Amino acid sequence: TQDEIYNFSAGPCCLPKEVLKKAQEELLDWNGTGISVMEMSHRSKAFKDITGKAEKDLRTLMNIPDNYHVLFLQGGASLQYSAIPFNLLDDNKKMNYLVTGFWGAGAFRNAKKVGDVTEVIKPLETYNGCTDFSEWTIDKDAKYFHFCDNETVDGVEFHNFPYEELKDQLLVCDMSSNLCSRSVDWNRYGLVYAGAQKNVGPAGVTIVIVRDDLVGKQLDITPDVMNYKKHVDSPGHCYNTPCCWSIYMAGLNIEYMLKKGLDKIEEEAQTKSSMLYDYIDGTEGYYVNPVDPAYRSRINIPFRVKSDEKLEEKFVEEAKKEGLVQLKGHVSVGGIRASIYNAMPIEGVKKLVSFMEKFKEENP
Ligand code: PMP
Repeated sequence: TQDEIYNFSAGPCCLPKEVLKKAQEELLDWNGTGISVMEMSHRSKAFKDITGKAEKDLRTLMNIPDNYHVLFLQGGASLQYSAIPFNLLDDNKKMNYLVTGFWGAGAFRNAKKVGDVTEVIKPLETYNGCTDFSEWTIDKDAKYFHFCDNETVDGVEFHNFPYEELKDQLLVCDMSSNLCSRSVDWNRYGLVYAGAQKNVGPAGVTIVIVRDDLVGKQLDITPDVMNYKKHVDSPGHCYNTPCCWSIYMAGLNIEYMLKKGLDKIEEEAQTKSSMLYDYIDGTEGYYVNPVDPAYRSRINIPFRVKSDEKLEEKFVEEAKKEGLVQLKGHVSVGGIRASIYNAMPIEGVKKLVSFMEKFKEENP
């Protein structure tokens, strides 16, 4: 049952039990309407109340200034990193892309289809950190600068991003896997986007937070559904039918996070990740996380077990028997990955560490 399982999936991933239970209670009858959110018109007042509250709570939780639009869209972060160049470029089709992992590379590949991209750092052989700012190549005339704040597959997160040095660049950031895990200084960013199926909600909804002066300047060839202006100008920000259920679920979770408080969430992320890294580093090479400590993710923690695929398979199987599930690493890198999103309780990480100790003893 849910109560016996700790789910380490990278996303879609665990959600707070309280949130799932609330959705269960409201499943057949939302707020006395006699119908389910799944059965509601996206143009109805009830649904507008749902999105309105989700947006308001997200703005409060993340302290998003009024001059930023908040959009709940579809198509995942992958559609957004494809749509961004269409929305932000004009005759000047120059962009800077900083690639520190699997997803930044996807964004880079798609941007190249639309314009001229400067690769800020030389392609890394393995994604295990980032080169020093002094070695970056930056096109000063580029329209914007794109990076991914937390690389979900590789476990690489920025903790000291050189904002000051880049203050003349328009920053565009993929925060799919670390949005709502720490505070954001919005004035540093032009646009932030996140596939919400991690800290925020179930799969289906993608959040775009975009400064209002950047909307409406899209290339003529931009398909309407990818055009932020179309969404912003439509009633309830619904240019077409949104993923109503996913937005509703995200709203419940945002409300839950708001009650908990971002400071507390941030503190727990630090505690949980330090616990796991400290244990891994103390095993003298039995478990290895390959990421430069200055760039280690607080959210997604990939590691190898003696670099031995057979042993890793056994690890995943035995962990599952103990109720520790979805620990297999991403297909592109293999190994193990423990994703410890906001909804992962500290007890889950403690149980994982105890299991790792036992596994190490039994499989020297
Ligand atoms: N960026 C990051 C950082 C991600 O973690 C993911 C999904 N895991 C994506 C982009 C792609 O998101 P989607 O599958 O929602 O398109």
